[in-house]
Amino acid sequence: MVNNIETLKDQLASLQKKYKEVENINRNLNERLLELYSLYKISLTLSMTFDFNEIMKSIKDLFKSKFKVQQYSIMLLDRAFEYITIETAFGIPKSSINQKPYKFGEDIFGTVVETGVHIYVPDMEKQSAYSYHAGDRKNQGSFLCLPLIPENNQPIGVLNLKRNKINGFTKSELTLLQKIARQIAKVIDKTLLFQQTKELSITDELTKVYNRRYFNQRFEREVMRALRYRRPLTIAMLDIDHFKLYNDAHGHLMGDEVIKKVAHTLDSIIRKADILARYGGEEFVLILPEITKQRGMQAAEKFRKIIEDMHFEKEETQPGGKLTVSLGIATLPDDTTDANTLLELADKALYAAKKNGRNQVSHSTASEKSPGMSSKIHKLRPQAQQPMPNVEVNEFLVANA
Ligand code: GH3
Ligand code: MG
Ligand code: MG
Repeated sequence: MVNNIETLKDQLASLQKKYKEVENINRNLNERLLELYSLYKISLTLSMTFDFNEIMKSIKDLFKSKFKVQQYSIMLLDRAFEYITIETAFGIPKSSINQKPYKFGEDIFGTVVETGVHIYVPDMEKQSAYSYHAGDRKNQGSFLCLPLIPENNQPIGVLNLKRNKINGFTKSELTLLQKIARQIAKVIDKTLLFQQTKELSITDELTKVYNRRYFNQRFEREVMRALRYRRPLTIAMLDIDHFKLYNDAHGHLMGDEVIKKVAHTLDSIIRKADILARYGGEEFVLILPEITKQRGMQAAEKFRKIIEDMHFEKEETQPGGKLTVSLGIATLPDDTTDANTLLELADKALYAAKKNGRNQVSHSTASEKSPGMSSKIHKLRPQAQQPMPNVEVNEFLVANA
């Protein structure tokens, strides 16, 4: 009898354990399902529209219906990367929505946008350093502020979520929300870029790479972004060597084919974050975000070598029997923090590469800031380009630890 009871007890304990396991599996599956559903829903929205307001509404609806949060908002940085303002929200008092924007680095929102690291406040009453949404009657519960970081870039804003419960977000939920925030960031970034450029023709007719107008606009934005986040940025000017000779020997149409081939080749080897534009006749410009001078030299040398090794029709008539290019690079902030000067310095470096014999890469040096100084010429050995550092969402960070 006693034995039977013991056996039953054992069985019960084992069943309870199994039940817990099943419960855990179930929760994991539910979270996974929610993740897949959310990511699917966000990319579906993007595939259907490029309308910014519609996209914001769709993301808001997703949070309203699928995530049990009492407050939600998306805040975005302005074009000069100075202020963040609420773009869309629910559950937040009107007075908070209409208040003046937060500065870069200010409060929880500005901090997250500056550092690119999320902040989780499990108990808002214990963490009063932040105002959250000033005007909010009771700062009770838990608050999560996630950076919105598009691919290989710095934050463009934040996603804020609040639950009235203390410790309202689990660690696995946080991981899920980080993935969703990344997806949202990509969607917003693409939509904003599309909106800014939809009225303009942005590609060059002949080569189909970006034109100079688009370059100017994008360059300004990338420089501001790099300065704001204290990130390096390299600009490379590329020009086909002795192209007049080629045109004179084989005609304009064949010359056009060469320009196209150079453009397509460059376009196929640059990273996603890089921007290639046709700057003028046989001249191209590349924006290489996050790239230091040293890595810029390696990248430029890679471009040069690929073009040198490539076969172009009737290139035998060119000096040296090969069609080649020269490149000049300049890097922010090493060389300058001014966008126009950066372009000028890259152009000067290109001129120096030409003067020194062409088919080479040259970079601007600090001494070059004064006109008339020549660039240092670097002939680099071929070297594989290092992988791009991904701006990853960092460690789990609990603000009131
Ligand atoms: P360098 O090595 O100093 O750059 O010499 P280069 O001959 O390439 O330079 P230059 O500036 O003297 O000549 C550029 C030539 O590029 C002149 C022009 O005929 C040609 N070119 C410019 N735009 C186009 C174009 O759209 N199509 C063709 N086929 N040729 C172009
Ligand atoms: Mg040329
Ligand atoms: Mg030229």
